[in-house]
Amino acid sequence: MPKKYPKHSLAFIGAGYVGLVSGTCLAEIGHTVILVDNNPDKVAKLKAGGIPIFEPGLKELVKKNVKARRLSFTTSLKAAVDKSDIIFIAVNTPPQPDGKADLSYVAAAAREIAEVADAYKVVVDKSTVPVQTGERVAETIRRYSRKNVDFDIVSNPEFLREGSAIEDFLKPDRIVVGVANKRAEKVMREIYAPIKAPFIVTDVKSAELIKHASNSFLAMKISFTNALARLCELSGANIDKVAHGMGLDERIGTHFLRAGVGYGGSCFPKDVAAFITIAKELGYDFALLKEVERINERAKALFLQKIEAALWVTKHKSLAVWGLAFKANTDDMRNAPAIDILERLHADGATISAYDPEATETARAVLGKKIKYKKDKYAALKGADALVILTDWDEFKKPDWSKVRRLLNSPIIIDGRNMYDPKEMEKRGFVYHSVGRG
Ligand code: NAD
Repeated sequence: MPKKYPKHSLAFIGAGYVGLVSGTCLAEIGHTVILVDNNPDKVAKLKAGGIPIFEPGLKELVKKNVKARRLSFTTSLKAAVDKSDIIFIAVNTPPQPDGKADLSYVAAAAREIAEVADAYKVVVDKSTVPVQTGERVAETIRRYSRKNVDFDIVSNPEFLREGSAIEDFLKPDRIVVGVANKRAEKVMREIYAPIKAPFIVTDVKSAELIKHASNSFLAMKISFTNALARLCELSGANIDKVAHGMGLDERIGTHFLRAGVGYGGSCFPKDVAAFITIAKELGYDFALLKEVERINERAKALFLQKIEAALWVTKHKSLAVWGLAFKANTDDMRNAPAIDILERLHADGATISAYDPEATETARAVLGKKIKYKKDKYAALKGADALVILTDWDEFKKPDWSKVRRLLNSPIIIDGRNMYDPKEMEKRGFVYHSVGRG
């Protein structure tokens, strides 16, 4: 870490996953950060020392930086903009029914900044937005600026992953900054000075494109692996071995080659859908990505078929479920594969008792009374006709197998995350189904 670097006053508009984590981490490296959110409940909770999301290590880091007076929260965008030279936009960009990104929150934030800013500001877009959004944000600020103030627009996409967000932010693979001039580049270099990572400077449009391209590529890797898993099932091969053999080729890489129930979460489904529409509007049919989506839907459907095949009839069957969140170490249920899978099983007449270490409340908000929520993994198993695994939390890795065997009505496990060795499971007396393994 360089000993001396300029400290800046930063405002973050949006105190969600990205705003809260990035803002807190930038406070941690010495900047003064004000987080603005127009959800008063969220701000009240943060002010009272609470954290609206589950993210390992975040609570402690927020507490530390609030105490050091480098981090504060407000609902007043004006108060935050007045005190800051650099304004990060970290609002949500949810999908519309046709897959297009809803940019109304970004537009509203840009307009609000314009209306209150009375001196030069660097406006940094951290939300995931379609290429050319920077131009629109600049236009909006020019249109609504009361005082005709000078500003620079920067694209600084965020690559953190929920569940390891702090580590990802402070030790990233790269920092991408899209700028139109040296003045903005200098400020961005200063903000990130203590973070050791390749610092990629591009034009604004290229930076915007890097984010959608990266997420779409990663989703493609997952779908490719799930398609291969199906081929493995049809041919008697084993996806774990195939992925291992492929991944050691440095050009391919070992990450994101795990078969399962398909990708979910707040980013991949939304970003792939948005990228398809972005390409279409630019005049390119990105058919490859449509297939990525199709394979992903099929991964869920095939998993449901596995459950049905294992149980013969799902109606009146009792199912235990381990894991609801879209992945481990998060309470995020946005687009979790569990939603489609469990809604379907519920519609088919199955009774579902589920346990997730962190996502009970977020799942309840989506699935309501369609499932029963249990306080520990063993409680979910009592009298169930099968155990279904949907999220690979660490605490599911080595359960007390004799207890699992005893509590289940019949020893059937359908594992959507390939957590266990099929041979070991057979030895333990289970009828074990997983994805893409013969
Ligand atoms: P989020 O929904 O958790 O948070 C967005 C916050 O912005 C909300 O708290 C909302 O109340 C607030 N907000 C909206 N409009 C506002 C306004 N005008 N003024 C003040 N506050 C406002 O969303 P998120 O998951 O943090 O994602 C934010 C952006 O970052 C999205 O574009 C997303 O695609 C991108 N992103 C997300 C992740 C991730 O893992 N969640 C990772 C990388 C990038």
